[in-house]
Amino acid sequence: MGRKTVELVVPSYNEEACVGLFYDAVKALFTETLTDYDFRLIYVDDGSSDGTLAKVKQIAQDAPEGQVHYISFSRNLGKEAAIYAGLEHSTGDFVAVMDADLQHPPALLIDMLHAIVDEGYDSCGARREDRKGEGAIKRVFSVMYYQIVNRLTTVELTPGSTDFRLMTRQMVDEVLKLTERERFTKGIFSWVGFKTKWIPYHNVERAAGRSKWSIRGLLHYAASGLLSFARAPLRFALWLGMIGCVAAGIDLIVLLVQCISCSCLPDAVHVVIFLLLLFGGMTVMLLGLVGEYLARILAEAKHRPLYIMKESNYGESDRKAG
Ligand code: UDP
Ligand code: MG
Repeated sequence: MGRKTVELVVPSYNEEACVGLFYDAVKALFTETLTDYDFRLIYVDDGSSDGTLAKVKQIAQDAPEGQVHYISFSRNLGKEAAIYAGLEHSTGDFVAVMDADLQHPPALLIDMLHAIVDEGYDSCGARREDRKGEGAIKRVFSVMYYQIVNRLTTVELTPGSTDFRLMTRQMVDEVLKLTERERFTKGIFSWVGFKTKWIPYHNVERAAGRSKWSIRGLLHYAASGLLSFARAPLRFALWLGMIGCVAAGIDLIVLLVQCISCSCLPDAVHVVIFLLLLFGGMTVMLLGLVGEYLARILAEAKHRPLYIMKESNYGESDRKAG
């Protein structure tokens, strides 16, 4: 059996100070420790406005033929798009997604490869044990966020999980079948299934440059995670409307009992409250119903595969005959 190739997909946005350091670190790892494997890099320049592309071209030129590839976007399209582009162009036996800023320590690849090759996992991800060097607010929000997502959505996200993950070729091919536009890669990795091992590590500060995340960007990312996998927000209106209608029903009974017991006309204010509850509740409930259809349309529009096959003996006889 020939040597296996580990391919690293590196989304890079304004990382001119990091891409070179990244290459050196990876090269050192594969020449000193992971000598049984070949490595390849795919830099995805996400529309950088600094010298990232020039740097990457230089690295590709200096590296052995075919070792470093690059894809450059016409403008900044976001990390999720960059990851997809990189995975789509990958051909390696094992593929990892890694940040360019060395916050994802390349040395973890040793344990990750061990988990996949020797322990039989399909993928191995890195999980941050602490968030040193990060603001308290960001930390609190992160903890809350994972709880909410895990409660409301159909996918299970591991708290502290990063995008740093090594996968088998098979898993990458399945990930690529989810072609939805609004991508939330972490959720997609979880959705496709397969066996994943999580390796804890201590947070590392970025090697150079600064983080690309703004508060707005983070909020958008958080919303995307919830909306891509949860129906709960759409279902909320249905429940709220139902509660309104039930309250209106109870109110009507109270109203009738009052009228009968004193054999008088109902109190005008009470009647208005009843009507508000009834029509308000009905309107919101119908909105919820529309939401249900919307959720279904959304699911169809995503065109996710109906199932993902890991193994089967179909085709085995053909292979034997061939
Ligand atoms: N990145 C990207 N496109 C973007 C923003 C970020 O490709 O629009 C890349 C960035 O170059 C880095 C990785 O995504 O390699 C993680 O970004 P960053 O380090 O800024 O995020 P943080 O580590 O602070 O969460
Ligand atoms: Mg970073």
